[in-house]
Amino acid sequence: MIQVYKFGGASVKDAKGIKNVCNIINNCQNNLVVVISAMGKTTNAMEELVDAFIKQDQTHIKIAYETVVNYHNQIVNDLFESDDPFLAQFDELLNKLWQRVQQHPGLDYDFEYDQIVPFGEILSTQIVSTYARKIKINNTWLDIRKLIKTDENYRDAGINWGLSSQFVKSKIKFDDNSVFITQGFIGSTINNITTTLGREGSDYSGAVLAHILDANSLTIWKDVPGVLNADPRWYPFAEKLDEISYPEAIELAYYGAQVIHPKTLKPLQNKNIPLFVKSFVDDQARGTVIQSVELSGVEVPVFILKKDQLFITISPKDFSFILEDNLSDIFTFFSKHKVKINLMQNSALNFSVCVNNVRNVSKLIEALQKDFVVRYNENVELVTVRNYTDKAVDKVTIGKEIVDAQLSRNTARYVLKCSEWKF
Ligand code: ADP
Ligand code: ASP
Ligand code: MG
Repeated sequence: MIQVYKFGGASVKDAKGIKNVCNIINNCQNNLVVVISAMGKTTNAMEELVDAFIKQDQTHIKIAYETVVNYHNQIVNDLFESDDPFLAQFDELLNKLWQRVQQHPGLDYDFEYDQIVPFGEILSTQIVSTYARKIKINNTWLDIRKLIKTDENYRDAGINWGLSSQFVKSKIKFDDNSVFITQGFIGSTINNITTTLGREGSDYSGAVLAHILDANSLTIWKDVPGVLNADPRWYPFAEKLDEISYPEAIELAYYGAQVIHPKTLKPLQNKNIPLFVKSFVDDQARGTVIQSVELSGVEVPVFILKKDQLFITISPKDFSFILEDNLSDIFTFFSKHKVKINLMQNSALNFSVCVNNVRNVSKLIEALQKDFVVRYNENVELVTVRNYTDKAVDKVTIGKEIVDAQLSRNTARYVLKCSEWKF
């Protein structure tokens, strides 16, 4: 039996977390591939380092680099004695990162990003793998970039399934080893240039490996008891869902339930591999299983909140209708600037969208303004209610200003002006 486990940043945010993760790995009786993200909020820290590097702001390069170093040093000092040979290997890796940010950046932000941010995953997996070995959990560390091959779409790379299958199957064999520890989120081109699969992409990496290896299951270990009917950080009454069908889970992920990356489900569904979402705090608890079931399994309303949204309304400058040809131009702008649309609506003269307020948006708006009149509303949130009832809708809309609304048979969606949530 083959299992794939994926541990996110929260599970390995400190030495105590890493010891807990090793305990969960040790309890697994089967052949196991473990995918581990960068520790804690390292990827955000790495993004700051990339920003400073691109701007060639030497002061901030140093500050951001030292933040990463100090955070990892603390963890390494808590896990290893000062004469452990791993310390030299760890220093060498940090030194490589320092050398990288001392180079001069090229003009392609996404390319530079992919050469720097993955250090977070390499550091975390080396620390966990070496510590696991120290406590007698035999395991092999793998550089997943040698196995997962992608296109050159930096920061949102697409998997080359043929090559990846070939490499994964030839490298991950359970004859002599029963535990492999590796990175999520990263891969490389056929020319061995590092790429990333998009933020939060480790869930997807776990699913890709499970698919290729015909694993019996993928388990993603979280700081929550499973998939809940809302994000508990926002909605204090969230309840755990025991079983969800693949299509329902894809819908939840698509609408932005942060607990699962949207790309994760397809590789699993295609081979009927169940996905378990379980708590790393209580590893014996049942969690949620996502699998092929007749009914969706979800009867309660499910709330999905996407914060920090921008509502943009685009109109032709010459009072012409919004038709297929200008829609096609508009979509090309979005795709070129890698801005993903979370909701769209059109009328005779306007096309409106809700998008994540990310750094590329201002460039997108500038580009659109050449051909269109563009108005936008900052500071809005997008709330989706699946299986909605009047009561559920009232819960999230009463006392809020509704900027836009969309209703279908199962799903109600609202763009709301931000203000305090009261439940
Ligand atoms: P990871 O450490 O694996 O990257 P994330 O922090 O990305 O994990 O995802 C887990 C978080 O997702 C939880 O702490 C929770 O706040 C949030 N979350 C959002 N929606 C849901 C939901 N429907 N069910 C459970 N957790 C959710
Ligand atoms: N470390 C990456 C991120 O934070 C990938 C992941 O954790 O899934 O986005
Ligand atoms: Mg995450």
